[in-house]
Amino acid sequence: MRAFEYLEPATLAEASALLHRCGGRASVLAGGTDLLVQIKESHRQPSHVINIKKIPGMDVLAFNPADGLRIGALVTTREVETSYAVRRHYASLAKAVTDFASIQVRNRATVVGNVCRASPSADSLAPLITDHASVHLYGLQGSRSIPVEDFVTGAGKTALAPDELVSHITIPAPAQHTGKVYIKHGRRMQMELATVGVAVSITVDRGHCTDVGIVLAAVGPTPIRARHAEAVLRHRPVTDALALQAAHAAMEDARPISDVRASAEYRREMVGVLTRRAIAQALEIL
Ligand SMILES: Cc1cc2nc3c(=O)[nH]c(=O)nc-3n(C[C@H](O)[C@H](O)[C@H](O)COP(=O)(O)OP(=O)(O)OC[C@H]3O[C@@H](n4cnc5c(N)ncnc54)[C@H](O)[C@@H]3O)c2cc1C
Repeated sequence: MRAFEYLEPATLAEASALLHRCGGRASVLAGGTDLLVQIKESHRQPSHVINIKKIPGMDVLAFNPADGLRIGALVTTREVETSYAVRRHYASLAKAVTDFASIQVRNRATVVGNVCRASPSADSLAPLITDHASVHLYGLQGSRSIPVEDFVTGAGKTALAPDELVSHITIPAPAQHTGKVYIKHGRRMQMELATVGVAVSITVDRGHCTDVGIVLAAVGPTPIRARHAEAVLRHRPVTDALALQAAHAAMEDARPISDVRASAEYRREMVGVLTRRAIAQALEIL
């Protein structure tokens, strides 16, 4: 492990100025459940570690029916998991952060850290994308926001500029008659990264699908929008046969690889199984 300088800025502006000064060689520290492991195993060797815990206002988790949900950069997965508003209105996100690591890890790990880590198996990304979430960035030029879908640009890669950090995530207010489901598949129930994950959000009006989002996790370098599967369902009366057709389309949308956790063939097969199951579950809880 290489030595690094440890800094504790008191404001976003100070944090951004420090990041700029370090020219891309600094790492932001939130819960540390990814970063500290990477540093210890020498996968990452930052010159500076910038702990953002002293910056006020970043621990806010707030919901209102007009604007939706705001998740500050220091809000832990455990806080999201136990929030009544999240469980009530953003059920797929609630499930993703519940079937996540251990309770000890969830008490430290932040949702924003999970998004910034941009791991192909990150559990929060797929439901955040089906919920149309945006990431809010703060940098020397000021603030900007970007859909989570566009924020993750590759495995472990994001759209963050070297002087930027994430201040919070927002999710629009939930639409009526919408069922949201996330199913994570792994070899174990606990302490397991996803072999395949599927998030579905489906809005149904008088039997017709008026809006749908299907996002696949751990079957590509970034979360994959199953656009062909969505097109099968959109503006049509939802039946079991159509759900099966959408599941087959999702299998074509996936771009899985073989690794220690599963073969590409198995992952593709499970995308079909889980997509069909997630659609059925989402329709049940509308
Ligand atoms: C035992 C164990 C089990 C795990 N199980 C799961 C699991 O089931 N599912 C899953 O998805 N993940 C899992 N993880 C991974 C990890 O817990 C999550 O990715 C976590 O949410 C990261 O959040 P953090 O606050 O700890 O981030 P940190 O480790 O502090 O940071 C992670 C990355 O994000 C960057 N970062 C953090 N905050 C910001 C910010 N505000 N602005 C810019 N960059 C930022 C950091 O620089 C770093 O690159 C597990 C980890 C461990 C150790």
